[in-house]
Amino acid sequence: MGENTNSTTSLIKQQLCLICRYKSNFFNWCNKCKLKHFELSYGEFPSGENEIDKFLKDNYCESQSEEEIIEWIPYDKLKVIANAINNDLDVATYSVGYILFWDKYMYNWNRKKDCTLTIKRVESLDDLFTNYKHNYKHEVSFFL
Ligand SMILES: [Zn+2]
Repeated sequence: MGENTNSTTSLIKQQLCLICRYKSNFFNWCNKCKLKHFELSYGEFPSGENEIDKFLKDNYCESQSEEEIIEWIPYDKLKVIANAINNDLDVATYSVGYILFWDKYMYNWNRKKDCTLTIKRVESLDDLFTNYKHNYKHEVSFFL
């Protein structure tokens, strides 16, 4: 695993511009390099919906701290462990884990592996953005 992780780190470093290659803090990188990191981590179109993918990429570039980053998690990566506990909220485990902090040596995110998430089903993109902006923000993950 160590070898694999090292090659990922060097791949990320190689893809960065000459300036960002020497900046160990993600939040100091230029937007081009942040987008390259995004695409290496999630693919070019993680959700397959232009509006959501643009939202995710803009957020990835504009975030000033780990808490501000919103990640797309494919629903099949979640394992639901409790249904509809309250207000249509389900509870699921996520083995990859949510972002804890930037690891400046790995050039990647350190994660809370096997974390538990509260998730909410939304009916449409409008519903998703409305819920995100007004109701839950950091406490709940959404799925369509
Ligand atoms: Zn750069």
